[in-house]
Amino acid sequence: MSRPAGLHADVAEVLLTEEEIGAKVRELGARISTDYAGRRLTLVSVLKGSLPFMADLMRSIDIPVRIDLMEVSSYGGATTESSGLVRILKDLSASIVNEDVLIVEDIIDTGLTLNYLIRYLRGKAPASLRICTLLDKPARRLVEIKVDYVGFTIPDQFVVGYGLDYGELYRNLRYVGVLRPEVYSGTPEA
Ligand code: 5GP
Repeated sequence: MSRPAGLHADVAEVLLTEEEIGAKVRELGARISTDYAGRRLTLVSVLKGSLPFMADLMRSIDIPVRIDLMEVSSYGGATTESSGLVRILKDLSASIVNEDVLIVEDIIDTGLTLNYLIRYLRGKAPASLRICTLLDKPARRLVEIKVDYVGFTIPDQFVVGYGLDYGELYRNLRYVGVLRPEVYSGTPEA
């Protein structure tokens, strides 16, 4: 089974630099701190892709917050497509009843995963439920979702880095980029 030649060598184009991401995360953190001042805010992030964004965003928020983590997986389909069928691999570890909940997502593509998650979390009776995503790909949206905080709106390209993977690799890139076409023609190691 072939391995990619190298982490950075496999990247054809950097879409968002580490500096651009850092500045945007600080901006979002400041907005969230203002909007939720005096409230009981719980950040719920969705593993694994949102891990770096969650870690940076929570440290850019200067009001008290709780955090919780969920892990979901889409059933079936190729690795660059979302199937919309969602399985919960890890549930919340604490109650969110009467909490102001902010879902922290890495990317919204078709919106199917988030649509499922919103309905699931609404059933747990939070005081409010809003969405924060680092990346938004509106071109491929299949369900309408009101997104409250968006870092960057990006074109319809499959991106990796800053948490986002291809075949479980490239999550540790500090930037967001697009892979060379030949990387996709090899067998991904999922
Ligand atoms: P949706 O259900 O909105 O179509 O897809 C959500 C999930 O699909 C994301 O959380 C992410 O795991 C994956 N995804 C969607 N677009 C991309 C992309 O451009 N790059 C990567 N690495 N994953 C993506």
